[in-house]
Amino acid sequence: MLYVNTLRTLLITLWFISSQSYADTLIITDDTSLTGSFTQGGLITGYTSPLNTISFNGEVLRTTPKGHFVFGFGRDAEATHTLSVTTPGGSNVEKIIQVSPRVYALQKVNGVPQKTVTPPKKAQQRIQKETALVKSARRTQSNATSFLEPFSWPLKGPITGVYGSQRVYNGTPKRPHFGLDIAAPVGTLVKAPADATVTLAHQNMYYSGGTLIMDHGYGISSTFIHLDEVLVNVGDKIKRGDNVAKVGSKGRSTGPHLDWRINWFHVRLDPALVVPPMEKK
Ligand SMILES: [Zn+2]
Repeated sequence: MLYVNTLRTLLITLWFISSQSYADTLIITDDTSLTGSFTQGGLITGYTSPLNTISFNGEVLRTTPKGHFVFGFGRDAEATHTLSVTTPGGSNVEKIIQVSPRVYALQKVNGVPQKTVTPPKKAQQRIQKETALVKSARRTQSNATSFLEPFSWPLKGPITGVYGSQRVYNGTPKRPHFGLDIAAPVGTLVKAPADATVTLAHQNMYYSGGTLIMDHGYGISSTFIHLDEVLVNVGDKIKRGDNVAKVGSKGRSTGPHLDWRINWFHVRLDPALVVPPMEKK
């Protein structure tokens, strides 16, 4: 039995390595392993025997019926985290996970519409309402397991903005940028990076313009912003590679690009860490 479990872990590990060569694998116990980028902004998927209970920093993680689970490290994640595995018999193994720190760039962004840097009072209500819609979409707790599949680039083009950079808009320091920006002309079709269900489709939000949120299951979501047009509706089931939107420059944006974000619930992750290096078109 132990041999079978070990073999299964090995096969799963090999599968992860072959499908995500840019990821590392960490063996926690003989039936529990983690795969992903062990760095700030990294997304981690795990596998355990389905009856085990997994806790991350003291919080129980939902596992799929087959024993998969997922979590992530935020932009400023601490250097160490705790993962614990409890068997149905009650035995418990706790492992410290090391997370490597990153250095983030400072980016000065000039020429954005001033009303999106310091919004007028009358815009506050609209902004609050839109923020609540986004938060609610990202709280989705679905049973989809699309987060286990490899992600693909939604669009190919020059990378003009990266995750984590501290932004200064028209001279005013603002929150860090959490998206991966890919430049492309207005109207360029954007593809779903993984299978998903649409949880938010909005044609024009104050800061983010056309905004699309796709649920990949267990708290993992993709967000596309500054879109010119969203081509799908809330509740639509979409497949990786489906055309879901058109590139735009709406909201707080200086030019046409796709801004792609990945979340584990409210924790913002780095999309560049879930896709292989971009190949030339
Ligand atoms: Zn952006």
